[in-house]
Amino acid sequence: MDGNLIIKNASELVTCSGFAAKRGRAMSELGIIADGAVVIEQGQISRIGPTTEVMTELNASGKDLSPFETIDAFGKAVLPGFIDSHTHLVFGGYRAEEYAWRLKGDSYMDILHRGGGILSTVTATRRASREELTEAGLKRLASMLAFGVTTVEGKSGYGLDRETEIKQLEVMAELNRLHPMDVVPTFMGAHAVLPEYKGREEAYIDFMLKEVVPEVASRRLAEFCDVFCEQNVFSIAQSRRLLTRAAESGLKSKLHADEIVHLGGAELAAEIGAVSADHLLHASDGGLRAMAEAGVVATLLPVTAFSLREPYARGRFMIDAGGAVALATDFNPGSCFSESIPLVAALAALYMNLSSEEVVTALTLNAAAALGRAQAIGSLDPGKQGDVVILENPSYRFIPYHLGVSTVEKVIKRGTLAFDKCRQGERPC
Ligand SMILES: [Zn+2]
Repeated sequence: MDGNLIIKNASELVTCSGFAAKRGRAMSELGIIADGAVVIEQGQISRIGPTTEVMTELNASGKDLSPFETIDAFGKAVLPGFIDSHTHLVFGGYRAEEYAWRLKGDSYMDILHRGGGILSTVTATRRASREELTEAGLKRLASMLAFGVTTVEGKSGYGLDRETEIKQLEVMAELNRLHPMDVVPTFMGAHAVLPEYKGREEAYIDFMLKEVVPEVASRRLAEFCDVFCEQNVFSIAQSRRLLTRAAESGLKSKLHADEIVHLGGAELAAEIGAVSADHLLHASDGGLRAMAEAGVVATLLPVTAFSLREPYARGRFMIDAGGAVALATDFNPGSCFSESIPLVAALAALYMNLSSEEVVTALTLNAAAALGRAQAIGSLDPGKQGDVVILENPSYRFIPYHLGVSTVEKVIKRGTLAFDKCRQGERPC
């Protein structure tokens, strides 16, 4: 029966146990149980432990085991489902042509003048119907699921008007209904400044606060408000005003911070108690320490730095400073057209100097914390949602080690098998 599952004999049950973000050294603690088992009842984890103990307890409990499916994970590592806590997954059109221009060395401004850049995605997203956006979204979710992602965050921000911003958020609600994966929506109307608002950014923020945020909040179309806090986009003061007003309407705060230059986005995130600040390539030492103290999750997006040939964010420094780091893909049609969790893991390990253990924490419990959901997902603890990945290898160490290749064999969402490589005809399992 759906939602009732026993996974046993796992070579490593990597629990990532915890109910809040792990900071600093604690990021290395994975809570591994050798020869482990996990029991999921009606979609929720009910027991974890060594297989012999769990099975003895289960048999002694007199529980009717007939509704349970059983998976033998002998020789395989079992982990919490991955959480991709920063994506822009609902958009119209693609920018493959622009990517080719970029490879030839054309500058961002050249591309913008030729109608490329974010504005081309805005035009395509405004034109796209709900059905087209939903259909494209479902395909993207299917690809993410195969990488082991069981919860994904998605942002609006390709409308920059009331109608399209709401349409993007409604599509995310529809995707959440149609697909087993959980989709966490973020309102990001302040993603870019349209030419008609250049120099009048305050007026644009006013428009968003008056015309869009109230509807988003009252219809519960988003859980978070995000802003592109960057030089020549939205200033620190503008970002502060938007996020604090949106928070009064119940939208929790996130920021795209210090990606291109050091503006003080990390400091602002600490000041307003944002749930996460993301990118952080040029964040200052002081800003990162302030974030660590304030408990703001630093969400790092190494594939974006890779794709743009930018320096990587200083993940090692952040963890050594006692911070909580999460990793995400930043999947979007422009700066990072990749939903590859294996690539995220490999780049974080090689270029941000994270250990394999820190990579796992950053993709599970800390990513859950970046979405305010560390109480519900991100670890294999009794009471949490039964979201699990089973690797084809015996250890979590294969995740960053198998470069750019997915090690995920099965994905379980709320106790039900949602993806199985063995059923794709790829290979015998
Ligand atoms: Zn982003």
